Amino acid sequence: MFSSMYAGGIAGMEAYPVRVEVDISRGLPGFELVGSLDREVKEGKERVQIALKNAGLSLPVAKITVNLSPADIRKEGTGYDLAIAAGLLACMGRIDPQSLQDTAFLGEMALDGEVSRVNGVLPIALALRKEGIRNLVVPAQNAAEGEGVSGIAVIGIKNMEEFLIYLQAGKEERRTLFPGKKAGGGKGKEASHAFPDFADVYGQESARRAAEVAAAGFHHLLLTGPPGAGKTMIAGRMPGILPPLTQQERTEVASIYSVAGKLGGKETLSERRPFVAPHHTVSPQGLAGGGRIPRPGMLSLAHRGILFLDEMPEFAAETLEVLRQPMEEKVVRIVRSRGSYCYPADFMLVGAMNPCPCGYYPDRNRCSCSETQVKRYLSRISGPILDRIDMVAQAAPIQLKDLHKRERGESSADMAKRVSEARRRQKIRFQGSPYHFNGELSGRDTERYCELGREERRFLEQVFEAGEMSLRAYHKVIKLARTIADLDGEERIGLRHLSEAVYYNSGRKQLWKGE
Ligand SMILES: [Zn+2]
Repeated sequence: MFSSMYAGGIAGMEAYPVRVEVDISRGLPGFELVGSLDREVKEGKERVQIALKNAGLSLPVAKITVNLSPADIRKEGTGYDLAIAAGLLACMGRIDPQSLQDTAFLGEMALDGEVSRVNGVLPIALALRKEGIRNLVVPAQNAAEGEGVSGIAVIGIKNMEEFLIYLQAGKEERRTLFPGKKAGGGKGKEASHAFPDFADVYGQESARRAAEVAAAGFHHLLLTGPPGAGKTMIAGRMPGILPPLTQQERTEVASIYSVAGKLGGKETLSERRPFVAPHHTVSPQGLAGGGRIPRPGMLSLAHRGILFLDEMPEFAAETLEVLRQPMEEKVVRIVRSRGSYCYPADFMLVGAMNPCPCGYYPDRNRCSCSETQVKRYLSRISGPILDRIDMVAQAAPIQLKDLHKRERGESSADMAKRVSEARRRQKIRFQGSPYHFNGELSGRDTERYCELGREERRFLEQVFEAGEMSLRAYHKVIKLARTIADLDGEERIGLRHLSEAVYYNSGRKQLWKGE
């Protein structure tokens, strides 16, 4: 007897359909699993065999061969168990394989018959849909992941018992069994309320404004200032003013979380942009991803959102180095003996740091650090990383008068309105291009998309000649000015936009003298 069932696999972020072919024939009794398989896949043989036996379904004494194709892709993980079990049951005459031709199976079978969650259900569902699959049987814990994929019915099962009920039902009856929960709330509106509000930030006009500019144009931002100035407060409020994810971005982000095994019911296909804040003890691999069975790291979990590094100089130098290549290429490359994987990592870096060990530099009345101490501390942010940061904003110490005023700051909702208007302008500007935000523009395209008038050019020349701006900072300043003009609702970049942009560059210059 021969049967063939559909499953799916993941290599990096690439999902592909897998055929699970089961053959039971006379011959020397045995059970073999073949087809370029990792250890976990092979161990499925025992898991499935025992789970079936515990359900009272012993395998026949015969030569059993299970082949997973395509053979040229190395298969990893435990997600093939259900398809193997279905194939065996079909060969044993327990179920009708004809009725399962447009059905695929993903899930790990525990020895006691429980079905456990697997990673990557969302991208696999998308790939299988292209293959003509209309029903996808997955662990109940994963069912929410497939619900956003139209044209494919997701069936969430908890254990072997439910698996058998489903398989043995008629095609019509199956439609009513174990449907994946349909997306209810969890989308859009209420998500933005989940973030703390800028209204709670007293004073700090300058740092708040910097956060708004960064959010509007996706510019990498470094917040400096003494302890207690509210840097962390401001960073934590940024996701609340970011424009929502587009439909396509949502799928991208959810797919990454799915492959990382982090897509829960609630975040499923949420409109909110990720905000990922690793602790400074995070390992380079924790940031970049990888591992024996590769998983996306935190840089990829921050894709299309914010990567927030609080107390940035506290991160190990080799950990910060990991940021370099993804900040340039917007992907993380993981090279392995069997090939390399790419995980998307297009994030906005928001860093926060004290400018010196005591935290009060450059206020020489309060800072007790020596020049050498300050220099050494600042040098923990290496030149290449600093180069990739677009704006440095200083959060001032909170003044008593700000607290006494008891005036709440502008609300996130009002700031988000301006950001969304700036986003709208960028959308029109970048139609048909690979860009979404001004901050992403390459050097040459900066000149193309951000035209400057004569007077504005002369202004920048003067700033450069006065030594206030390096050549490297030139394009950054123009991109920032473009975003500031967008926030202003202006088609033309004006002098006031440029001077504000130069100001964000001067923060870097003031602290890191060489820049
Ligand atoms: Zn100091």
